[in-house]
Amino acid sequence: MDTPITIIGAGPSGMTAALFAAKSGHKVRLIDSNEQVGRKLLVTGSGRANLTNQRMEGSRYSCADITWMETLLKRFGHADLITFLREIGVLTFSTADGWCYPVSESAQTVVDAFANALRQANVELVLNTKVTAILTINEEFKLDLSTGATISTKQLIVAAGGKAYPTLGSRGELFPWLKNLGHSILPLVPALAPVTCEMSSWKALSGVRFDARASLYENSSLLAETTGNLILTEWGLNGPAVMDLSHHISTRSNVKLELRLNPLFNSEVELHDLITRKRSTDTPLRVLLASVLSPKLPPVLIARAGYPLDVPINELNDEQTEKVLKIATSMPFKVTGVRGFEYCQVSAGGVPVSEVDPLNMRSRLISGLTLVGETLDVVGPCGGYNLQYAFSSGAVAGMSIE
Ligand SMILES: Cc1cc2nc3c(=O)[nH]c(=O)nc-3n(C[C@H](O)[C@H](O)[C@H](O)COP(=O)(O)OP(=O)(O)OC[C@H]3O[C@@H](n4cnc5c(N)ncnc54)[C@H](O)[C@@H]3O)c2cc1C
Repeated sequence: MDTPITIIGAGPSGMTAALFAAKSGHKVRLIDSNEQVGRKLLVTGSGRANLTNQRMEGSRYSCADITWMETLLKRFGHADLITFLREIGVLTFSTADGWCYPVSESAQTVVDAFANALRQANVELVLNTKVTAILTINEEFKLDLSTGATISTKQLIVAAGGKAYPTLGSRGELFPWLKNLGHSILPLVPALAPVTCEMSSWKALSGVRFDARASLYENSSLLAETTGNLILTEWGLNGPAVMDLSHHISTRSNVKLELRLNPLFNSEVELHDLITRKRSTDTPLRVLLASVLSPKLPPVLIARAGYPLDVPINELNDEQTEKVLKIATSMPFKVTGVRGFEYCQVSAGGVPVSEVDPLNMRSRLISGLTLVGETLDVVGPCGGYNLQYAFSSGAVAGMSIE
């Protein structure tokens, strides 16, 4: 084909699509409003880039059709990504819990490797340039650019992200144009976002970090549950455990939501055993709790139960001890919302997956149009799932371009 395939967005999905399309012999043009490629990739994993996860499964994603996700991951999954990354010069390692990072532990080296691979593949980079309109004329796409120029293409890949972290380039400005072309657009809401809660009764724990099971309830019925690390702040909760639940909050309005934290989720049996053994001694309950909990938690939990800080275990009967343990296994937080797009890692919403074929990422509605990455309504949990999805969708799109 003479006219280049045009890709809007040089994020993980767009760069991967460009490399796979170029590998199949296509001329490729990659446009981004930023002055460099992979701007958001640079800040992922707190600058370490959590690229993928060894425990990759379609069922881990919030996606309207799990079979869709599984089909995509079968086409290009975790092992394919590791091989591809190695080919472009990114070596990876995994932590004990399966989270994969570059050996360099630097997102900068990943972006550098992509930039080098794009250069070697002769991908034409059009940076510092925003696409301001997408129109179709005579079976071609016509793109208006912020430079005042207009370009035409027969094959367009939209890899422009969602609305998360707008300062890094993705502001959702192309969704109205995709709608004009005929796609549905589901409302964009923050996901993997910090959760705001009423914190007045937990003030003493501000800044404390621990692992917990986090359970989200709507009017007392369980909506979703995760396990992971979190931190309490003045305004609410942050960290993977609650971020993974945040899209359940941002997609609901006018409902009563409560988060309950259980920091004893994997140590309750041992703690019970220890309490039984020390039952007749004057060991302070605080000391027993501190054997399995972060040191700032026991005093707050004991105070909440209404007992003196140093109450010995032999001065509490079973019922009184149980009262403290009940608080410790179900710390309640009234949810008030989630923090906005500026603070979230991805957005939920966008083009529904039903409108895109996971075997090639082509639009089922508009010939010549391919959609990848966060532009679609897919949210993975923390742990490398969102980058894996961006890379997978980009790779499948690029290798399927005809
Ligand atoms: C702080 C932070 C940390 C994260 N950490 C992780 C992590 O460790 N692991 C993980 O799996 N995920 C992580 N994520 C999520 C991950 O970064 C995204 O899932 C991923 O970047 C999505 O890739 P994408 O290619 O779809 O979109 P993006 O990376 O958003 O790329 C879209 C690109 O399109 C460009 N663009 C948009 N509109 C236009 C336009 N009109 N004209 C021209 N260019 C345009 C943008 O400038 C941008 O460069 C993190 C996100 C954030 C914000």
